[in-house]
Amino acid sequence: MSALTAVHTIADLRSLVARWRKAGERVALVPTMGALHEGHISLTQIAREKGAKTLVSIFVNPTQFAPHEDFGKYPRTFEADCARLRTAQVDAVFAPLPEDIYPEGFCTTISLAGPATAGLEDKFRPTHFAGVATIVAKLLLQATPDLAIFGQKDFQQLAVIRQMALDLDLHIEIIGAPTIRAEDGLALSSRNAYLSQEERAIAPLLHANMQAAAKAIVAGGAIETTLDQARTAITQAGFAIDYLELRDARSLAKIEKLSDRPLRLLAAARLGKTRLIDNIAVNG
Ligand code: AMP
Repeated sequence: MSALTAVHTIADLRSLVARWRKAGERVALVPTMGALHEGHISLTQIAREKGAKTLVSIFVNPTQFAPHEDFGKYPRTFEADCARLRTAQVDAVFAPLPEDIYPEGFCTTISLAGPATAGLEDKFRPTHFAGVATIVAKLLLQATPDLAIFGQKDFQQLAVIRQMALDLDLHIEIIGAPTIRAEDGLALSSRNAYLSQEERAIAPLLHANMQAAAKAIVAGGAIETTLDQARTAITQAGFAIDYLELRDARSLAKIEKLSDRPLRLLAAARLGKTRLIDNIAVNG
């Protein structure tokens, strides 16, 4: 197993990255909130394949949670996370303290439009993306990586970050990585740990119904009718749906009819107290 350097302050992070740069290395950042699983590890593998020094940040970012959400009970498993990162031959982990990220008097946030106001996650978590964009901007400015890797699992988030990197001239390559799933199709997520055994058995039905809907739409099924049938099936399986929508994969704009443009089917649904999100490509 290789050595994993752990840094906890922004100053130590900057020195580490400066040492790497002096040695002529490229740097890849994988931002996470910890409770790491194979989905996160797949992002670090992409970084390694790019030949870059791999830095994983672990920070449960309070500003992206609304007061009623799960910030307090979000799983925090730092030692187990480090063990996984060592096995994955990650070079360093950055785990800052909240007071260093948001010191007394902190009052700046990133204000967003475009993909951040597409009416998907933003409709149900109205303050979420401002929190995400602000922490990601801070981490990117602290680590100054050449590339940063994000999962397509959080598809709207990826679009928001790409747009932010473009608009703010961050000059960092943003890579979107495929969603890693359990064998039964459930997208891996740290929040899956909240599911009871019974809920875990039902959870893959979200993805299964999305796949069936995507197939029906590609085969020529009427979009709204097909989506309505999928919504009914998902609800009958025991979910409370926040949204199930077909969107343009690039702009996230609403779709009236099929075209050659890449489309994405996106969903969020609650199973008991757990909120699951998923998305799949519809036409290749
Ligand atoms: P999180 O720790 O949930 O904030 O996720 C950190 C990063 O891992 C984000 O870029 C996520 O999109 C990505 N991620 C989470 N789950 C998966 C998964 N199942 N497959 C691929 N990437 C994922």
